[in-house]
Amino acid sequence: MTNNSTSPQDQPWTILRLLTWSHHYLQEKGIPDPRLSSELLLAAVLGLDRLGLFLHYDQPLTAAELGAFKKKLIRRAGFEPVAYIVGQKEFWSLPFQVDSSVLIPRPETELLVEESLALIRADAGLRNLVELGTGSGAVIISLVKSLLPDGRQWGCLAAVDRSAPALKTAVANARRHGVDHFIRFIRGDWLAPFNRKRPWIQLLAANPPYLSAADLAGLDPGIRDFEPLEALDGGADGLDAVRVILAQARDHLVPGGWLLMEIGETQGSRVTDLARENGFDPVRILPDLAGKDRVLKARKP
Ligand code: GLN
Repeated sequence: MTNNSTSPQDQPWTILRLLTWSHHYLQEKGIPDPRLSSELLLAAVLGLDRLGLFLHYDQPLTAAELGAFKKKLIRRAGFEPVAYIVGQKEFWSLPFQVDSSVLIPRPETELLVEESLALIRADAGLRNLVELGTGSGAVIISLVKSLLPDGRQWGCLAAVDRSAPALKTAVANARRHGVDHFIRFIRGDWLAPFNRKRPWIQLLAANPPYLSAADLAGLDPGIRDFEPLEALDGGADGLDAVRVILAQARDHLVPGGWLLMEIGETQGSRVTDLARENGFDPVRILPDLAGKDRVLKARKP
């Protein structure tokens, strides 16, 4: 008898076969998004986008590609976020380099960019802007990319972070997007690097750590074990950094200056009270696309 049929082991690993296999593998490991993860990892290995995968379902993989994919798949099976494995995350429709020194940009943080843009566009005299806790730089880089070319004479566009490795990543992202000449990246603790005797900041944007001890205890392992704790941990009630930033913003903003700060979805009323105690007026809490409290918008009278 001739043996024309091939056993499953001999079948080539095509894109479709590999996706089906890895989908089930990640599912068994309890990974929350097994199919999407498989697709993103394989697309990264092959230098394709997800549509490219679908268009090449029957393409067989080389041994080198299989090996590279397997390494990434094993990392994902250990709950490492896909963004760290592929080294990139999209935010505001732009690709940002990410690594374990920076928080992976979240879609809800786009509200911070949107509201900052609205304030800047509404005020031709707005020249000085500072972002606190910039991390990957996604917020300020998205802002600057959206504003250029802009006839505006900028005074100071600055981004602060306490972490040297995070600043390195932010600078790499600014270079990649061609805006590194516009933004000063400064290492420091919130507004401590600046002189508060003569306030000059007109808009302050921040996505501080705001998770409470209880939030941290309930975090997904993908976040808890891989993302930088200092970008998430807001102390017992989650508001330690928020309190510091509000007090410093009061001193560093010019009269009429704005503070835009991302907050946790349960913190709207407490943050409103804190902002009022620090003299801000008006104080508003803006909802994200999911309808959850997400951004404080407060003005220094
Ligand atoms: N939204 C983030 C999360 O839930 C928290 C970000 C932050 O603390 N600034 O993981």
